[in-house]
Amino acid sequence: MVMNYLNRHEFFHRLLYGFSKKWLGGYNLNEAVHYAKMVNLDGMFTIINYLGEEITELEQVERNFCEYLSLLTHMNYRNIYGSISIKPTQFGVDVNYDLCLKMIRKLVEIAFQFNYFVWLDMESFLHVDNTLSIYLDIFRYNTNVGVAIQANLIRSRIDLFHLIEYDSNIRLVKGAYHNTRKVAYQSKKEIRTNFLNLMDILFTENHNAILAIATHDTHIIRYALTKCEKYPETINNVEFQFLKGVKCALKKQLLDNNYQVCEYIPYGRSWLPFVLRRLKERKREIIFLTASMIR
Ligand code: FAD
Repeated sequence: MVMNYLNRHEFFHRLLYGFSKKWLGGYNLNEAVHYAKMVNLDGMFTIINYLGEEITELEQVERNFCEYLSLLTHMNYRNIYGSISIKPTQFGVDVNYDLCLKMIRKLVEIAFQFNYFVWLDMESFLHVDNTLSIYLDIFRYNTNVGVAIQANLIRSRIDLFHLIEYDSNIRLVKGAYHNTRKVAYQSKKEIRTNFLNLMDILFTENHNAILAIATHDTHIIRYALTKCEKYPETINNVEFQFLKGVKCALKKQLLDNNYQVCEYIPYGRSWLPFVLRRLKERKREIIFLTASMIR
């Protein structure tokens, strides 16, 4: 009976990994950097993320810090063009804010020495205040860092106005975390409209900073392209960011038109939460997976 459960669990795990590989850069740093090199050869920049989140043990926080140091060293050694993306909860933000700030600040400094940019991913609503506070604390001394802003959150408009006072580097996303009606827009339509509104603000008022448009929504991308044409001075600051394995033809089209394109490459053994977020967004894939399990 137990064996049967284990077999099923193992089977499901493998099936899910096999199915989700298209979004992942591999199990370890070498695989991720190897893939990143190919992305560079295709003309794109990379954004490498070591998977793992909601960490509460100090030892794991330290291991994560060391992993990113090795990652930066390997990226430098292999001449990778791009950046890294980290999550504050990987550095135990909820357990020890000061230590988390210290570690991320150190990482940004080291990345800067290697000429790599650091993005702060935005996680669930509960972490927004801490993430923005870490971002601004570091950005005041080192502008080699940017932060994601989620269009599904009602507060993001106010956050954005605050951030652009400092010419902040912003990655605009729809938002991958479920939040309550009280704090977040729920419908696809509202989220898209807010994304477009926030993007308008960035194009008109935040010219001196990086504006990353991180979506696969072709309607939004088309709108962004009209903005790029209207504000040609933004051309060097705008980048289109995509997940690995998604909308490859569109990436190529943008590259052919001389836009900067980046691919987000997550790697590591803690891939499950990332993959579950992708599946939640992709109902078709869930049906396919369930069908394969029943068969
Ligand atoms: P959707 O409406 O979900 O998708 C539009 C279309 O794109 C879909 O119809 C489909 O054709 C295609 N598509 C979308 N996703 C997939 C997929 N996985 N596989 C295949 N096709 C797909 N979220 C955060 O909350 N915080 C972050 O810090 C963050 N960083 C991100 C960084 C990058 C580079 C990207 C690309 C996304 C990031 N996200 C982040 C995730 C984001 O918030 C969305 O959850 C995710 O991008 C899906 O939304 P969408 O904008 O692509 O629009």
